[in-house]
Amino acid sequence: MELSESLYGPRPAALKVEALSWGPTRRQTIIHDLAFSVNPGEMLAIVGPNGAGKSSLLRCLYRFHRPVAGRVSLDGTDLWQLEPRDVARRVATVLQEPAGDFGLTVAEVVELGLTPHAESRNRKAALAAVGEALSLMNLTHLAARSFASLSGGEKQRTMIAKALVQKPDLLILDEPTNHLDIRHQLEVLALLAHLPTTVIVSLHDLPLAAAHADHVLVMHDGRKVACGPALKVLTPETIRETFAVETTVERHPKTGRPRFSFHLDHSF
Ligand code: ADP
Ligand code: MG
Repeated sequence: MELSESLYGPRPAALKVEALSWGPTRRQTIIHDLAFSVNPGEMLAIVGPNGAGKSSLLRCLYRFHRPVAGRVSLDGTDLWQLEPRDVARRVATVLQEPAGDFGLTVAEVVELGLTPHAESRNRKAALAAVGEALSLMNLTHLAARSFASLSGGEKQRTMIAKALVQKPDLLILDEPTNHLDIRHQLEVLALLAHLPTTVIVSLHDLPLAAAHADHVLVMHDGRKVACGPALKVLTPETIRETFAVETTVERHPKTGRPRFSFHLDHSF
């Protein structure tokens, strides 16, 4: 999949998380003392069971939740010292449950991704970028359809296209594959892995994370269990501790990446 300069020419961001804690109230802590970093252009997958704190952590990374302790920095600057406008320009998000009814067409929703760059764009370049993002997400045939009439997977691809036209330096996606069929899951993950931008994506699918991400952060109860290359981090022991399942890890004969199969316990 080739990306043209019209869609992509970002300065991939370095992200650093130090001693980060967050909770909705003073007495309740959801994210506990997390630390990790992501190098420019790398893709980090965040995995963990339901309620592990993946979405809460991501909200700290796109400057929605202000940390209770610690900090999140983008290229060395604390997110909360940056202008909200700069964060909006540099960081794009694809969140769960996109707003249902915008009353817009698919192409119009994707074009909203250009808003942070509005003053520096001409109309022709804007339409070219929208067209390319639609094509990358296999949405060209749906460009004139109303967003509200799309299937869950088509909506999800539209929101990814909208994030792509923003040309972010950091792209944050919260479980972007959960409505997608297998073909689109693999295509979206392969595209994200090849984007010349820094990508942080939460996934509940361990094999998808292992197959595409440079590094994997495993979370449980708001804490970091492990962070590093998939094969080092996604061991049967870690997966048992975190997800309470038994795992067999093999090497995929075609791709050479780790392949996982799961079962409940030894008695089966
Ligand atoms: P995940 O995305 O891994 O499923 P979440 O970050 O959504 O996990 O949630 C982690 C835990 O924090 C859950 O128990 C959730 O109910 C709780 N939580 C998240 N946000 C809030 C909030 N604003 N107020 C109270 N509890 C919250
Ligand atoms: Mg979540």
